[in-house]
Amino acid sequence: MKILSSVLVSATLLLTGMWAAIWVQVEHERSAAIETAVNRNQNLAVAFEQYVTRTIQGADLLTRTMKAQIERAGAEAALHQAVADGLVNTNLYYGVQILDQNGFLLAGTVHQTTPGLNYGDREHFRVHRLIADLGVYIGKPIPLRLSEGTVIPITRRINLPDGSFGGVVIVMVKPSRFTEFYKDVSMEGDDFIALVGLDRITRVRRTGSTETFGDDLSKSSVFANQSRKASDNVLTRGYKDGEMRYISYRTLTDYPLMAAVGISQKEVMADVQARAQTLILLSAAVSLAIIGITALLVMALRRKDLAVMQLQMTERQLTTLALRDPLTKLPNRIHLEQRGEDLIEASKMSGRPMACLFIDLDNFKYHNDAHGHAVGDLVLQAVADEVQKLVRARDLLARLGGDEFVVLLCDLDDARQESACVAERILDRFANAMQVGGQDMTISVSIGISLFPENGLTLSELLRHADEAMYSSKERGRARYNFFSIDMRRQNGEKLQMESAMRRAIRNHEFELYYQPQINLRTGQPVGVEALLRWHNPEMGPIPTDQFIPIAEESGLIIPIGQWVLETACRQMRLWHASGLSDLQLSVNFSALQFKQPDLIETVSDVLLETGLNPRSLELELTESMLLGSRDVIRGKLERLKQLGVSLALDDFGTGYSNLQYLKKYPLDTLKIDRSFIADLPHDADGEAIAGAIISMAHSLDLRVIAEGIETQAQADSVIRKGCTLAQGYLYARPMSALACFKWLHDPKAQDSNSIRSVA
Ligand code: C2E
Ligand code: MG
Ligand code: MG
Repeated sequence: MKILSSVLVSATLLLTGMWAAIWVQVEHERSAAIETAVNRNQNLAVAFEQYVTRTIQGADLLTRTMKAQIERAGAEAALHQAVADGLVNTNLYYGVQILDQNGFLLAGTVHQTTPGLNYGDREHFRVHRLIADLGVYIGKPIPLRLSEGTVIPITRRINLPDGSFGGVVIVMVKPSRFTEFYKDVSMEGDDFIALVGLDRITRVRRTGSTETFGDDLSKSSVFANQSRKASDNVLTRGYKDGEMRYISYRTLTDYPLMAAVGISQKEVMADVQARAQTLILLSAAVSLAIIGITALLVMALRRKDLAVMQLQMTERQLTTLALRDPLTKLPNRIHLEQRGEDLIEASKMSGRPMACLFIDLDNFKYHNDAHGHAVGDLVLQAVADEVQKLVRARDLLARLGGDEFVVLLCDLDDARQESACVAERILDRFANAMQVGGQDMTISVSIGISLFPENGLTLSELLRHADEAMYSSKERGRARYNFFSIDMRRQNGEKLQMESAMRRAIRNHEFELYYQPQINLRTGQPVGVEALLRWHNPEMGPIPTDQFIPIAEESGLIIPIGQWVLETACRQMRLWHASGLSDLQLSVNFSALQFKQPDLIETVSDVLLETGLNPRSLELELTESMLLGSRDVIRGKLERLKQLGVSLALDDFGTGYSNLQYLKKYPLDTLKIDRSFIADLPHDADGEAIAGAIISMAHSLDLRVIAEGIETQAQADSVIRKGCTLAQGYLYARPMSALACFKWLHDPKAQDSNSIRSVA
């Protein structure tokens, strides 16, 4: 922009400067031309004046000489004498005439042979007759009577001896006599020289090659002006042709005449104008070039500016894009990190505490998998909108990614109390179903809170601690909030400890499989066993499955462990089959992570091949959560497992989403009713109804039903009444070591299931 304006300013200055210089130059040339013209004019006028004076003086001398001769010797004699003396030079004068007191031609070099010629009407005759002491009189141009032409009479009075009027002596001068001196002076079209009488009548005027005589100039602003100077240079408009001229005139000292030279302003200016025109044309061309170059420069700079602006805009857009989550339009992680540090700095300065809320959706994966990604996106947008409404404008709500959101509450008085208040508001908002994409959805969130400065001095610390607190909210049953505490820290530390202990456990063979029999309720005979993992840590002792299996799943350790479980259980079953228990079925629990493995089918078939177990004896226990997601992909996997010959059970039915669609859509064989439904039987009417419905529905879909967790006979009776034929539970047998189970299988009655060592 700066360059652009300086280019424009420079171009303007350049143009103004150039035109000013041209104007000054033209003006200078103009005044120089005028000065030259006026000087030349004036010089000409002076020369003209002198020439006229000399010419008239010559003629006047002749009149004076002749007057004296005539008065003394008479007209004829005087004329003869003058001619004889060579005074009547016909090169100079047209002729000489002598008139008597009545105007009759007495003698003359012109028309003297024509008798009776009378010139008494001539003005000069009458003037001389009237005025005795007039001296020389220069008359107006007069046309010749007997021949072509005009002459200017220069005249004197002749006195008779008594002093009375005796006639007039006339020397006739051709007008061209005055102008011929200038024939070599180049005169342009409108230039002129003129001899003008003080009576304002021109004696002669030559313009170019044309001569006029006797013009009346009483309308001329110069010659008619009474108060004009004797000699001057003026610029005036011609009263006849309107032409502007510089006129230099001089009044003759001895005669009532003015010698004038006029030069046309047009002529004077012609050269200047031509030069000015050339200069102007040249400058116009240069100006055009400057304007053109400036325009090109401006365009180029504009384009550059535009490009720069576009670049800046794109940069801004990119920055906005880089800092915003495109789905929810909330600040993203990068923005949170930048802004968060600023807020922390501000908090340090003001001394007012902050709080960091880590919000995670509890069942997002379900909504996403069950209703599709489009609905999942709507859920995230709805959550973003709702939470935004519940925080103040100065708080920062950001989406970290996935279903995780963070709120930074700043400028607080009591961070703990105020953040708890916001967390409760958020939980309240999500306690009821929300309308998302036209359907009612229950979306619950778990929140973890860390406080500044007590739980961390940097944003990353606050985030990590809030995240840990959020996990502990999940562990405590979801849809709740939880403050970060050192205690929790300890738990997390334990988690890490357990993870590394578990790694060692694989190497140290600390895992063991227990087996829990499954009973045919009609016959009371065991039909199968479920393999259940046990971990005896040398230092920590037996560790409950609900403590280590989730950590194994989280850390991925469940993959090698699950592999070991499958191999060990299949090998065990192969042995038991070989020992005569050939109808016994084996159930093995599968984790979601195992199910997701791309080589799942190969792993299972390899184990079956290696151990030599008949696939028909193996049942894989899956949970509902594994069946969420792309229906075709899951069905494909299930079908390929089925093609191996194994059967499939749906474990813990009733605790998840209890979606009957799975039962219809997927090739399942067995439904295991979760023990939470069994626990309240037969006393809980609702439980009774639900268990009854599940059993009859499963049967109608041709599924085997196993009631899990049967601890009492009443529970057994209840499920039997509902048509359930298979059960598993402490009533029959606890999970047992392989050896104990083997013994039990051979003689269940001989064993007291309660006395069997169990960690279940
Ligand atoms: P599950 O597959 O539903 O296993 C049944 C659980 O119920 C077992 O707990 C069993 O000891 C317990 N149980 C059986 N009868 C009764 C009863 O009458 N009363 C009560 N109160 N409990 C009973 P366990 O062995 O602690 O296993 C818990 C869960 O851990 C299993 O639930 C299963 O989901 C998981 N699990 C166990 N072993 C493995 C394994 O090898 N791999 C995987 N992925 N998960 C396993
Ligand atoms: Mg199971
Ligand atoms: Mg179960």
